[in-house]
Amino acid sequence: MKTVYLTIDDGPSKDRKEKVDILYQYGIQPIWFCIGSEIEKRPEDVIYSIRKGGIIGNHSYSHPRFSQISLEECFEEIEKTDRIIDSIYREAGVARPIKAFRFPYGDKGEDNNFFKKPYSEEGKKKISKIMTFLKELGYTKPKFDGITYEYYSKFGLKDDIDWYWTYDVAEWCTFQEKPMFGVRTIDDVFELMELDLPEKWAGLNYPYSDDIILMHDHPQTTPLFKPIICQLLKKGLHFGAIPLE
Ligand SMILES: [Zn+2]
Repeated sequence: MKTVYLTIDDGPSKDRKEKVDILYQYGIQPIWFCIGSEIEKRPEDVIYSIRKGGIIGNHSYSHPRFSQISLEECFEEIEKTDRIIDSIYREAGVARPIKAFRFPYGDKGEDNNFFKKPYSEEGKKKISKIMTFLKELGYTKPKFDGITYEYYSKFGLKDDIDWYWTYDVAEWCTFQEKPMFGVRTIDDVFELMELDLPEKWAGLNYPYSDDIILMHDHPQTTPLFKPIICQLLKKGLHFGAIPLE
């Protein structure tokens, strides 16, 4: 059976607890890729996320594009948030189950059009240094052997240490000034879910691969949060527990 894993980026927003409760109600375990500076604003909400079964991942300290900052700054962004997450788990009295990292905007150190054009030699070097840094800090990613999309292996997403997604819910598009991916409303979000283009990042209807679903903890889309989860469940998708190895 196809399994999907729920990853939620950004925040914690002011509405984090509400979202935690919705997922808890449906028995869905998410990994929350939190921004370090936002964790500092709402540590209690992050502890609440942990106590309700969620896992906390590192999504940098200030959410920059890693292609726009120096290598040293990339390291600082990662390490500072790593320490913050360590201390949050200590405060929660829970052992940190895994060190997981996701790049802001999926920007690994060079702009993330990797599926359109290959990384430059310089970009490759920067990315590889960041990967080594993550490894040395103990960051890891499960094998996700159930993800069988060709692009997932081809673009190195399977082997990379950072957690990339395979399906973007694109609810964040509903509040952008310029519409992106043709998404303006929640109906557009639902329509995207019906596409059957497995090698074009739209494989929810493709039974032969698992998916890593990307959503966000943005305050602008809080009202859409529950309807989106319900729609995914209505599609018969099985949400798996976040694998740890
Ligand atoms: Zn983000």
